[in-house]
Formats: sequence, structure tokens, C-alpha cells
Amino acid sequence: MKPTSLAALLAIALVPTLSAPAQLPPHSHRPATAHTDEHLPVVHKWAIVLHGGAGDIDRSSMPPQVQQQYRDGLSDALNAAAAVLNKGGAAIDAVQAAIEVMEDNPLFNAGRGAVFAANGTNQMDAAIMDGATMRAGAVADVQHTKNPIALARAVMEKTRWVMLSGSGADEFSLQAGLQQEPRSYFFTESRWDSLLRELRKENLPIPPRPPGTPLPPANQRALAAPPVFSEAPGARHYGTVGVVVLDTHGNIAAGTSTGGLTAKRWDRIGDSPIIGAGTYASDASCAISGTGIGEYFIRYTVARTICALVQYRHMRLQQAADDVIHRELEPIHGDGGVIAITPDGQMAWSFNTSGMLRARLREGGKPEIFMFRDEP
Ligand code: ASP
Repeated sequence: MKPTSLAALLAIALVPTLSAPAQLPPHSHRPATAHTDEHLPVVHKWAIVLHGGAGDIDRSSMPPQVQQQYRDGLSDALNAAAAVLNKGGAAIDAVQAAIEVMEDNPLFNAGRGAVFAANGTNQMDAAIMDGATMRAGAVADVQHTKNPIALARAVMEKTRWVMLSGSGADEFSLQAGLQQEPRSYFFTESRWDSLLRELRKENLPIPPRPPGTPLPPANQRALAAPPVFSEAPGARHYGTVGVVVLDTHGNIAAGTSTGGLTAKRWDRIGDSPIIGAGTYASDASCAISGTGIGEYFIRYTVARTICALVQYRHMRLQQAADDVIHRELEPIHGDGGVIAITPDGQMAWSFNTSGMLRARLREGGKPEIFMFRDEP
């Protein structure tokens, strides 16, 4: 390319940035609610948006009592985040609190209910990011930490690295004093069934059941297995969890935690722990947590792209999220969705699947919990 044409291209690329209003320094963005007395600290209304995965979720494939269990699970997570925020807590603490609740709930594909990799192990990914400081921590393919989001937080706060993986991350978890669990803790019968179905479909070898997991007699299977929706052969579902929060100080944060995709190649790393792909937060733009087929979210840097549209093109959050999810990912079958929040209190979700488990709550408002596409 001739230098002149390169310069012309650069000039075009820079126009939106240069014509944009001067970048606001952190903490000085427009408050959602402010005291009129300028000597009083600015108080923002807190807000939470969270997801429990996106995929083939429809009423016919999910009995009403299972739907209720998921709604209760999402509600518990909202409450955990709200409890932190009502005390004036930081967005990042609220994110961690809500994710830990979902990691402990075997219904979700994170922590306790993580899906299995093709070799019969649970390899979990998680990331957390603080929009106020742009600090981030992430872990990939960890196998023993009860709450991988706490491990991601420890990487952020106790190391100078952003991401640790595999056995090194597991070792660091021990050193950091985080609660460890044996493989049997992460075993759920319904996830194991999904693994076997997937492996048979792909003609792959079946690994032995993990140690410490007794074979339940056939008539106890239903009791042992937490009900999981969309387990019909061929159905694709995801149960990753993610949370984005705006706190009363005007800061935002994001976190995501997952077992990844059923029957994934072991040591595969998805988008959730990759900053800018499945997780991102910056007080200069927005906070995002994604869910779906991670490979698309990685290649299209979904989370950062949405925030860049908000930051440099001054798009409304909903439009930015819809543009990426529907205009970029949908045509190439990049199934999934995102939840999003901005420091000025915009909340959004967008998904191109038949459903996404999702919930939101603004301070003083009523919780809204939805699962299917035809809900608001
Ligand atoms: N995005 C996750 C992954 O690819 C899976 C999910 O969101 O359900 O690992």
C-alpha cells in the first residue's frame, strides 16, 4: 500500500475518535442519581444484570418445576449481589458473590455443575474484571477449586499476571488457601449422561467414571441427578454464568464462570476467561459477560468490540450488543448472547439463541427474571 493511501486510511479510522468528546477520567462519568450539593459524594443507583447461559431453551423441553428451579437460582444470585451493593460494596465484590452462588448450584454449568471434557474431567474457566482499575484475573482448565471465580480474583489481587491455567492454576489455588474439592464434588449424573451421549455421537472413547462416584442404582438416578433442561439428544445448551454490576460509587465490573462445552477436547480454553472475548469491564465504556460457543466469541473479540462501539462510536449499549450478536455472530452461527451494563446505568442483554437464562435488578426496582425469547 502507498504511504499516502495508508495515511488517508488512518485519518478515516481516527475521525470518530478525534471528533469524540474528550475522554472522561475514571469516576467522573455522568451519575445515574446525584445529590445536588456538590460537597456530598455522588451516589449512583446500583444495578445488576446476570445470565445463566444461552442455548436451546424452550418451554416444551423444560417442565414447569425445572423452570422454577432455574428462576430461583437466578433470584438467589441477584440477592447475593444486592446484599453487597446495599451496604455500599464494590461492583467487583457483588459480581463475585453472585457468581459463587451460581457456582455452588449444580443446575448451572460452573463450579459444582460444570460439564465434562471428553476425557471425563471437569475443567473450569473463569474471569473477573474491575472497570474502575482495569485490573483483571482469569483461570483456565482448573479442576479442584470449589469457586473458580474466587481463584480468578486471587490471580488479579495476589499476582502480577492476568491468567493462569491448568496445574499451575490449581497449585496457586492451594497456596492462596482457596477451598478445594475432590473430583466427585463436581460429578453430576445428568452432565455425565450428556457427556456419554456426545461421545457416542462423535464415536469417541468413553472414559471411566471419575473416582469416588458410586454407580447409582437405576431407580435412584432421578434423585441423584439434578434436573437439567435440554438434555434431549442433539439439543445444544449452555449453562455458563456471568454477572455485570454497577455499584453506588459509579464503578462497573464483570465476571464469568463456566465448565465450558460438553465433551470439549481436554485443555481446550473457551472465551469466558479471555479478557475482551467473554469477559470485559472498563468504566470508560461498559462491562460484558458472554455465553455461547466460545470459539466465535474469541475470534470476534465480542466483549471488547461491544464496549469499543459504546466508547468510540457512542452507540447506545443495547444497539452495540445487538449489532455484534445479531449482525456479526448470527449469520455465521455463532450461537450465544451477552449481558451488559454501563457506568451511566444502561442495562442490556442480547442473544441469538432460542433462550437465555437472564435476570436484572436496579436499586429500588423489582427483579426481572426471564428464560425464553418471547419474554421481555
Ligand atoms: N462460552 C463457553 C465456552 O465456550 C460456554 C458457554 O457459554 O456455555 O466455554
